[in-house]
Amino acid sequence: MKKIMIFCIPAHGHTNPILPVAKELVQRGNEVRFYSFDEFREKILATGAEYISCDRFLGTLSQQEEQNIKNVNTTEMSIQDIRITIHMTDFLDSEYQSFQPDVIYSDSVCFWGKLSAWKHHVPLVTSTSTFAFNQLSSKYMKNTPKETAGLIFGLPKIQKEFKKLREYGYEAKNFLSLVQNDNVTDSVVYTSKNFQPYAESFSEHYTFVGPSVFSDKHPNKQKRPLIYISLGTVINERPDFYLNCIEALKDQPLDVLISCGKTIDMSVFENLPENVKVCPYVDQLDILSKASVFITHCGMNSVSESLYMAAPMVLYPQTNEQQAVARRVTEIGAGEILHDDSADGIRSAVMNILSHESYAKAAEKCCADFRSCSGAKGAADHIEGAPHTSDGRDVLKSLNQAVISEQILYNIISIVLAAVLFRWIDRSFLWIYITAAVLLSAPIKNIFQQAYYKKLITQ
Ligand code: UDP
Repeated sequence: MKKIMIFCIPAHGHTNPILPVAKELVQRGNEVRFYSFDEFREKILATGAEYISCDRFLGTLSQQEEQNIKNVNTTEMSIQDIRITIHMTDFLDSEYQSFQPDVIYSDSVCFWGKLSAWKHHVPLVTSTSTFAFNQLSSKYMKNTPKETAGLIFGLPKIQKEFKKLREYGYEAKNFLSLVQNDNVTDSVVYTSKNFQPYAESFSEHYTFVGPSVFSDKHPNKQKRPLIYISLGTVINERPDFYLNCIEALKDQPLDVLISCGKTIDMSVFENLPENVKVCPYVDQLDILSKASVFITHCGMNSVSESLYMAAPMVLYPQTNEQQAVARRVTEIGAGEILHDDSADGIRSAVMNILSHESYAKAAEKCCADFRSCSGAKGAADHIEGAPHTSDGRDVLKSLNQAVISEQILYNIISIVLAAVLFRWIDRSFLWIYITAAVLLSAPIKNIFQQAYYKKLITQ
């Protein structure tokens, strides 16, 4: 029996997958304390874990800060994460002192969980509710210029807050080490190795346990297709989009269920067509087991749950992380991205999925893969067995070393070639040569990286 502390940020998408794991840990006789927020109190108590409220450490946010958090602004979320950690210091110190935990299970972006585990030298296992992101898999995320600018201008603000952590005894190499997955931290990822991009680049410290869900249901599709629509629990105030969906599907021989979120004014949904129902919140897994198509914002949990219930998807990602998930779904053939969110665009996307069996087949294949994973039991094994050792094989490290050598070689060849060529060619063309060499450097590096990665994982 172990004493386990669980930490998570106040978000459904991060808390939900931890719940079956917490229940499994409790059932095995471990003593589990779950540090969370009152919104999740009932769900946590239902797992049998002891619930510890942390609401008082959230602090009061200005209107602007609240808006930024709602918009999933990385800078704001990181700053708030650091501030909460600092507010919690005395409380956490005394909790560690009195409880004497054997292991910490912390959401991967919950700074207070990770930092306190390092500070008190207790083995840490992280819970990764998205894909595991390292420098390879993060290629799946494409930042818009606005997002990139936001990150660049936000970094000094984060650094300023980050420096304060040291005064409270928290140690972290740098901000990146707090947010990125590395190959030495024990981690649970709630997807399969097949679905995780670049899965082989993660060391043995990782375990891919498949979707962590509370459901013994199996896919049971209705004869008359059910189209389920949800934009998740965070950025879901989109009456315009829901109304377009209703307009698109009201005259079709199918049923529509929309989960619109709890903050929307329900009066916009007056006089609904007979085949459409709108609710603030639904039992998503139950609905997905019956749904033929899911129109989703591509939150990692929603997509995993959809595939777990073999429902193909119309993909409507809103953030770059969701774009990464959407891209992976298209790669396995279980959905298509919605490029046109007008009523016509939505109708044709849904009809396309319904009329091509290949989407449902791909979702069924992934469903079987997910169901063969170790789930909450595998996660609990990994937590109870921490800290883990690995065989020392680090694909990412070997890849990085090879890429550095490739880049050095590329620069040497470019210089030698220039020295030879410009004996005969007019030197006024030198700037064209240099520009071309610089521009080609990145794509060549990419091609080399992909090829070398393939070589490494087949060795
Ligand atoms: N969810 C639910 N009922 C709803 C809407 C959402 O149970 O009506 C759950 C869903 O099953 C999933 C989580 O809320 O587990 C949403 O997480 P996701 O990562 O998909 O998106 P986020 O809300 O974090 O954007």
